Amino acid sequence: MAKVLVTGATGFIASHLILQLIERGYEVRGTARSTDKAARLNEILSDYAGKPVAIEIVAADLNKDEGWAEAVKGVDFVQHVASPFPTDAPKSADELIIPARDGALRVLRAAKAEGVKRVVMTSSMAAIGYGWGDKRPDTLTEVHWSNADNLKDNTAYARSKTIAEKAAWDYVNGEGAGLELSVINPVAVLGPAMSRDVSSSLQLVSQPLEGKLPAFPKLSFGIIDVRDVARAHIEAMERPEAVGERFICAGDVLWMDEMGEVLRQAFPDRKMPKGTLPNWLVRLFAQINPPLKQVLPELGKKRAYSNKKLKTVLGIDPIPADEAIIASAKSLIELDAV
Ligand code: NDP
Repeated sequence: MAKVLVTGATGFIASHLILQLIERGYEVRGTARSTDKAARLNEILSDYAGKPVAIEIVAADLNKDEGWAEAVKGVDFVQHVASPFPTDAPKSADELIIPARDGALRVLRAAKAEGVKRVVMTSSMAAIGYGWGDKRPDTLTEVHWSNADNLKDNTAYARSKTIAEKAAWDYVNGEGAGLELSVINPVAVLGPAMSRDVSSSLQLVSQPLEGKLPAFPKLSFGIIDVRDVARAHIEAMERPEAVGERFICAGDVLWMDEMGEVLRQAFPDRKMPKGTLPNWLVRLFAQINPPLKQVLPELGKKRAYSNKKLKTVLGIDPIPADEAIIASAKSLIELDAV
């Protein structure tokens, strides 16, 4: 049975990935930086799967060398999912850039030293579609890269993902030659949450459900279901043609008020925002609602992505956005998280 290491096992995407890997017959080991969270993880996975799950967990922090050699010991593949994804913008961009970049390099070096066959890394649309100013292509594809040096039309998170992904490709094209790498670049990931400790992306659903804003900012998001993202990671690990490739993992693109409409129809008893806020008011709200600050560069811009490679090379036809949105909402309500 092939063995797979999943870094950041406590996260939203990683949890689904772990269960799908087990379902496909892989033996899974995870890393977590907090041993408290690690103890809860098997409980959360078991509850969601409806059967006992007991993966081995090794302690490792992206900011430290300790633990990574032990984590990769005897594994055939590494799924490098861990990276800081905070809700609020950090005080300094380095709080995200350093663990994202240096952590990826720690994982890749450890994998190379152990003779791991392939690493699949979770990058992001943030490494493709930011820092373009007025020159952003109408449809973004895998040939495009965010400009991490443009601080104006960017966020610390997007810069961290861009710099980390570039560092990973540089590594396998240089010092780490021979180690196979494949990269997944998801847009906003929705779908069922397993625990109340939810990923930042689920705020797209939790904030409207909590009625925190009177109406929606004029923001559009590409949406992908976490179950498709997990599957994309496995297909990228198994398929020979995925080596050396990045894959945009995106489904439908919706304006936030369209997402709200999906929620309003599915949960008519909830009081939720309706309509669109003027951009100046969103900028004002962002002063008291820090998660909003991170999306200000995108106000009023419609996004468009190509998911051709996802479909043709990885064989994934994305779950429709409304299903992903409703699955998130149902899980958050069941978990009493909203
Ligand atoms: P989560 O916040 O649920 O997961 C992030 C994971 O990274 C957690 O397990 C977290 O551990 C771990 N992590 C953060 N900092 C460190 C560190 N210093 N050392 C070790 N582990 C660390 O988010 P997601 O599951 O959504 O994100 C997973 C990956 O997917 C990230 O790389 C993110 O950038 C990427 N991504 C997510 C998208 C989304 O919309 N959700 C879209 C595109 C990409 P801990 O539990 O200890 O905090």
